[in-house]
Amino acid sequence: MNDHWYEDGLGALWSPYCQMKTAPPPLPVVATRGCRIVLADGRELIDGVSSWWSACHGYNHPHILERVRDQLAVMPHVMFGGLVHEPAAVLAKRLIAIAPAAMSRVFFSDSGSTAVEVALKIALQYHKNLGRAGRERFLCFSDGYHGDTLGAMSVSDPEASMHRAFRDVVMKQFVVDLPRDAAEVRALDNLLAEKASRIAAVIIEPLVQGAGGMRFHSAEVLAAVRELARRHGLLFIADEIATGFWRTGGRFACEQAGVAPDIVCLGKALTGGVIGLGATLATDEVFQAFLSDDPEFALMHGPTFMANPLACTAANASLDLFETEPRREQARAIAAELRAGLEPCRGMPGVVDVRVTGAVGVVQLDTAIDVRALRPRFVERGVWVRPFKDIVYLTPPFVIRPDELDRLTEAVREVVAGAGV
Ligand code: PMP
Repeated sequence: MNDHWYEDGLGALWSPYCQMKTAPPPLPVVATRGCRIVLADGRELIDGVSSWWSACHGYNHPHILERVRDQLAVMPHVMFGGLVHEPAAVLAKRLIAIAPAAMSRVFFSDSGSTAVEVALKIALQYHKNLGRAGRERFLCFSDGYHGDTLGAMSVSDPEASMHRAFRDVVMKQFVVDLPRDAAEVRALDNLLAEKASRIAAVIIEPLVQGAGGMRFHSAEVLAAVRELARRHGLLFIADEIATGFWRTGGRFACEQAGVAPDIVCLGKALTGGVIGLGATLATDEVFQAFLSDDPEFALMHGPTFMANPLACTAANASLDLFETEPRREQARAIAAELRAGLEPCRGMPGVVDVRVTGAVGVVQLDTAIDVRALRPRFVERGVWVRPFKDIVYLTPPFVIRPDELDRLTEAVREVVAGAGV
């Protein structure tokens, strides 16, 4: 290996979500193992965010690595147009078997954002194919987040979000606050009575809105939105990319809330965080609308690397682990530890809220965080935590040991207490 890769290559890279003029340089990583990220200087950081909610089984799980290695030797990739392979076929069946509602088809893509794009296209074309002209917009929520591509940005609160630079460019959607009580549900009902004929679907992150601000809502709110969608003829798209696979305490947030979506988007932990893969699941009712002798009715979508065999294999291995290892119990234990470990932050200067649901712990501050100032304080405590906006949050791998989780919550307490954030 070239010892100078970092110095040599850094100037060629464009990093995510940062102002390249002022952002501190990214830290050089040379390995991952268990719940740890190993830096080039030998330091190890306990990962508090599971590589953006994806590495749910920890890094380098031997079962996933072994399966992917076997698949690598046989067929790393093949196009999916006109061809099919066992890893995808098996995975599709397995996802349908565990989906939070009666789903009949799975469309694979290569990331969470593309899974959302596919869901949006399916919803638009579903109505078109059924002859319901005019249903060309989406209902979505303030503080929602569904990805960084243009369609996904349009349903991610474009007035207020990190994507606001694009607010005049993206497709105009109906962005509303999540209803919190019966009166607000009625208000949304009234809005839909007027506008539903222009709306194809509602898209929502069930129970936990993630990158838009880590806000939680109840199963009742989710069920009320679902019911409104049904009543007004909107498809209900559950973006479970972050919440799926036990993160909120149930296998899927929708299942936990007893809500049956029409379309489900999956990503992140789907492959155990090993390789990018997106999946968009649809009910048979939705799928049937695409069957016709008219070629115009077909879903015209097909990313080059869709259903990549390595990714599907990683996902199948990840599903094995969800079946054989006690993820439900681990999520529950993490929730209790996060509660105990983060609750002392309540009452600290600048802290406006502490909240935990499932294996998601949040400390919210009264001002935007100076991420640049905070990062070294976490790193010097041996943890990897990535605050954003006014939020410090933890979404640790399910396999994290109690002593590692203690170090994470202790670091959050210390940094928030001493932050002058
Ligand atoms: N939806 C949600 C709820 C997400 O949290 C994310 C990723 N943060 C996405 C979609 C987009 O996924 P990806 O980053 O894989 O494109």
